[in-house]
Amino acid sequence: MKPDSMKSALLTPHAVTSDRRPHQPDIDHLLPYTPGESLQTFSQRTGIPANNVIKLNANESPYGPVPSALQMLRDHAWYNQYPDVQAQSLTEAISRYTGLEGAHIVLGHGSMEVIRLLWSLFLSPGDEIITCSPTFSLYTSATRERKAYLRNIPRRADYSIDLAAVLAELTPAARMIVLCSPNNPTGNPLPEDDLLTLLKTGLIVVVDEAYVEFSSHPTGYAHLVPHYQNLVVMRTFSKWAGLAGLRVGYGLFPQWIVSAARQAQYPFAVNVAGHLAATATLNHLDEARERVQWIIEERERLSHVLAGYPFLNPIPSEGNFILARIDHQQVSLCQFQSTMEKHGLLLRYFPLLDGRHDYVRVTVGLPEHTTRLAEAIEQIRVTV
Ligand SMILES: *Cc1c(COP(=O)(O)O)cnc(C)c1O
Repeated sequence: MKPDSMKSALLTPHAVTSDRRPHQPDIDHLLPYTPGESLQTFSQRTGIPANNVIKLNANESPYGPVPSALQMLRDHAWYNQYPDVQAQSLTEAISRYTGLEGAHIVLGHGSMEVIRLLWSLFLSPGDEIITCSPTFSLYTSATRERKAYLRNIPRRADYSIDLAAVLAELTPAARMIVLCSPNNPTGNPLPEDDLLTLLKTGLIVVVDEAYVEFSSHPTGYAHLVPHYQNLVVMRTFSKWAGLAGLRVGYGLFPQWIVSAARQAQYPFAVNVAGHLAATATLNHLDEARERVQWIIEERERLSHVLAGYPFLNPIPSEGNFILARIDHQQVSLCQFQSTMEKHGLLLRYFPLLDGRHDYVRVTVGLPEHTTRLAEAIEQIRVTV
């Protein structure tokens, strides 16, 4: 057909548009996950040029990828080709890094995709999943998507999990328990004894170790995976390896879950750029670990700085962020936020965190970021 006759074929009466939607998708139950504001949106909202903004709201690494990862991305000549469907080199590198065989490893487009995959495998409408709040809110969105129910057991005053309450809340509909360790946003890890007790329930226990590399036990609970049929550990390159923009995560699963996951997943969960950068990171682990060490040192300094203000109560953290409670008798969250924003500081605020009020979470950045933050906090006038 010539272009002209093609056009008239498309404009036959059958193609006339209609006001009626062909099908109404079932979306009323969804609860979208809202990530921290992007640099671009913040810059547009405040009028502060993007290169004057200090972004400490999404726990990204201020150091970015190790130099050899960037080099690999520049040098690669085959972006026209699909990734290796077996993801062999990255799987082998993760295997060396974690000490687990490849048969336990499932890669994902960020660990968020691994979460979605697990939820889709194990949660049907009406099922229950248990978590301990405050914690990562993506678990809630993922659960709503499945039309399942997330049972939130409040953490104790010190943010540790209330094990007895968790055990008391297990119903016949419970399928999984998900806990983040170190926990986002409170920064405390899950003690091994608590994990072992939870594993005895026989439910699938998911431990989200997005921040484990910054903790006092940087190898986390990976070593337990081969010994339990119901333990799942989730990891990511987004935080410690500085690859958030490339979306590379992985799960460490018992083999029976790996088989199910491989059948449910589409091929090529991780793209070529993600493969290259994550593999290069693991092949230059000393450099990546050096950056993690800088962040840990800066975390201690930041914690000390925050504790120096009478209206801030920072919580000890094993992640690359610090959560602090703002004493609203002295400073309102609003006033705090607007002062920070005037100084180009993008932080994460929690007006209400599972029944507790007025929190701010600060990602650990460069030393100069801590200094700029301190200068901005100095400008706050206390009202009492
Ligand atoms: C940042 C974060 C993730 C990471 O998600 P990616 O999809 O891998 O970027 C996972 N879990 C928690 C608790 C996080 O804070």
